Amino acid sequence: MSAISSSRTLHRLIYSSRQNIHAADLDHEVGSIVRVSIRNNRAASITGLLLVHAGWFLQALEGPAEQVMTTYRRILGDPRNAEARILGAGPAQDREFADWNMCARRMSDADDAILDTLERRELFAPHTLSAASAMRLLKSVRGVQERTQLSASR
Ligand code: FAD
Repeated sequence: MSAISSSRTLHRLIYSSRQNIHAADLDHEVGSIVRVSIRNNRAASITGLLLVHAGWFLQALEGPAEQVMTTYRRILGDPRNAEARILGAGPAQDREFADWNMCARRMSDADDAILDTLERRELFAPHTLSAASAMRLLKSVRGVQERTQLSASR
């Protein structure tokens, strides 16, 4: 088994941060973040999921601990986001977002139902989420994306 897939070295970090991007530039900037991230994350054996919603970013990064921290430090220094807060970090058994090298999605109105169900809150405030709640939310988004892709491929 390679070091990359070993459960001994796999780490996951979940953080939230505020978008620091003009609304008119959001699509362009998110597209640019995703393009660069796909390239960098592949090279660093990092997988994850990025949620872009209501002025916030919520992202899980998973991979070798050192690579995850190096990537997170780069994100911290990126002026397109601010007030980053780590919601959870530590060893992980398995990759939860292995098929999602990098995804971004501003959730649609329909998808907002997930947030309501999960947190029963009117406001999306990822800074207040526990690590477990953030993980549940990201996994639900992953599920929505999987179903969307499945129905699109039919
Ligand atoms: P380049 O893309 O060549 O960029 C060079 C420098 O310019 C970097 O310091 C970069 O931050 C800065 N820069 C580039 N475009 C802009 C811009 N429009 N405005 C201001 N500064 C800019 N990177 C990853 O590798 N993996 C991730 O998972 C990841 N997730 C991210 C999530 C969020 C919410 C944000 C805001 C950024 C994320 N990034 C991610 C991007 C990361 O912050 C760095 O921009 C990127 O990793 C730098 O890649 P690079 O060294 O190849 O440099």
